[in-house]
Amino acid sequence: MAICTKCGNPKVIINRKQSGQSLCKECFIESIRRKAIKTIKKEKLLEKGDKVLVALSGGKDSVTLLDILDTFRKRNIIDICAVTVDEGIEGYRNEGVEIAIRHAERLGIEHKVVSFKDSFNITLDDMMKIPNHRGSCTYCGVFRRWIINRAARDFSATKIATGHNLDDETQAILMNYLEGNVDNLTKIGPKTESKSPLFTPKIKPLREIPEKEIGLYALAKDLEIHLAGCPYSQESFRGEIGEILKNLSKEHPTIMYSTLRGFDKIKEALKKENKGNFASNTCVICGEPSSNEICRACTFLNELNKN
Ligand code: SF4
Ligand code: ZN
Repeated sequence: MAICTKCGNPKVIINRKQSGQSLCKECFIESIRRKAIKTIKKEKLLEKGDKVLVALSGGKDSVTLLDILDTFRKRNIIDICAVTVDEGIEGYRNEGVEIAIRHAERLGIEHKVVSFKDSFNITLDDMMKIPNHRGSCTYCGVFRRWIINRAARDFSATKIATGHNLDDETQAILMNYLEGNVDNLTKIGPKTESKSPLFTPKIKPLREIPEKEIGLYALAKDLEIHLAGCPYSQESFRGEIGEILKNLSKEHPTIMYSTLRGFDKIKEALKKENKGNFASNTCVICGEPSSNEICRACTFLNELNKN
């Protein structure tokens, strides 16, 4: 029987295949906190006085992110506010929204819930009833980013923090690579900045932590989280890539780490080579930053209205 590699406690909750480390509950919680802080320091994700908007869905990733960032708030290093996007997915989203509200109330932070219905006058479920639609996750991502970016300005936030984990990052790398989407590849990273002052920089403090360990952290800390999966998740290419990576990780436990590390090394060179398609205009319809005359959100809304 393994004992905790750090303190010798015989009550081990995790055996890390990738490092051979075994940890008890307390040492595991501390190791996750330290990992996130290491990413924050290494990538200079936070500055004293930042007002960080947490994209809080109520799921394990965003709740863990809020829990870790809150330690910085308690030490008066940053201020935190939160936004929850309600896409309008019947039987799925409501519970997450309620959990998010409870976390915000518990911590006493500013929080708002913004729905697709209020912002675009249509729910994601209704978009899926329209012929020739582009698929749930395409709309979901674009409209969600639109709402979060606008919320950041409403809150006067200086950073937007999202709960992307190691699995999410490696999925995005592989997915965009396989699709040949170099523009999107150059946007993957710990911090996304834009020349447009309308964009708030986005940070991902959990990007080096595997999804499984984030789930375990939430469990170990007894954090209330929304466990249900989105009913549309099977439809996505990302889901397929996720399966491939999970299967590979069984025999090659370090594969996600090496994918991320390798990508981080070539990213700067990639950015130099690829001038990219970056938001340098503002959308003539909604005024949000856009690389074209009309932003993706407004383009999609026009299409949906036509169909
Ligand atoms: Fe949105 Fe797709 Fe995620 Fe569901 S699985 S929440 S539709 S991005
Ligand atoms: Zn627009």
